[in-house]
Amino acid sequence: MQRLAGLARFVPLRPYDYVGRKEACNICGASATLPVSGYDRRIKRLNTVVCSDCGLIRTDPMPTEAELADYYRHSYRLDYQLAGSGPPRRHLVRTRAEAVRRADLFAPVLAPGARVLDYGCGSGEFLAEGGRRQWTMVGVEPGEAYAGYARGLGLSVHSDLPQTEEPFDAITSNHVFEHLRDPLGTLRSLVALLKPEGVLYLAVPDMGPSPRPAFDRLHFAHVHGFLPETLDLLASSAGLCLDPRFPRQGTNAVYTRGSCDLRPDPTLAERVRAGFNPISPLAYILGGAWIGATYRRLKRDVADTLWR
Ligand SMILES: [Zn+2]
Repeated sequence: MQRLAGLARFVPLRPYDYVGRKEACNICGASATLPVSGYDRRIKRLNTVVCSDCGLIRTDPMPTEAELADYYRHSYRLDYQLAGSGPPRRHLVRTRAEAVRRADLFAPVLAPGARVLDYGCGSGEFLAEGGRRQWTMVGVEPGEAYAGYARGLGLSVHSDLPQTEEPFDAITSNHVFEHLRDPLGTLRSLVALLKPEGVLYLAVPDMGPSPRPAFDRLHFAHVHGFLPETLDLLASSAGLCLDPRFPRQGTNAVYTRGSCDLRPDPTLAERVRAGFNPISPLAYILGGAWIGATYRRLKRDVADTLWR
């Protein structure tokens, strides 16, 4: 029965089973918004808006902490993978490659023994890669399945942000901030753990202009959406500026302490909205272009389940 209830969450054209709360913009505190989409990639009803004052994208109403926890407990793994326990092969191949790229980025500024925190470390590939480079690696991962897998490899993983750790030379967070209800509060907590000259790496999906259907770019677990401009504004609000020593690649960026004091750009919201393709799910379905993408996604999920 439990499994049936879980599957019912995937029935298209129906709203998600949550009430949520109206919330002000997490970065600038404004309440005015423009609409972005009424559906998400599962073609379920989900309302997404952009802040009129600063361009930050958010789910509206915002799911409560308890509702998000419930979603992760019952739907998230099923939504992302058919696999049972442990990370699927595709996940590991992708995250190991990303871990090497991220470590290469920091290699010029981190000496052996440097302290590095990975916030949202998942199954721990970046922790392992940093360990191979003789950095002291600490991870934070609230998802018990992945945290347990990483601990099984001998990696140091907390389930929540450690309060009493020594400060870090580098803090990284790869595709985590789009999941957070309070990205600014979390970023401030991370900055408090950063050494004065430390660097902080943020990577999130880039929600800038794209021809993809708007609904196909949105997901219940992604309660905030960023463009390079809003990621920089978030960082500035937490006392960080872009670190000119590192290349900026869209919404992958490295910051360090400074007072660049960015201001919200009131023209951004309209550009954000215009960058979303408003094609309706029905028009998209009738157009048939989704068949290839769905086939490839299914094939990949089945392959992950069979070859582990
Ligand atoms: Zn705002």
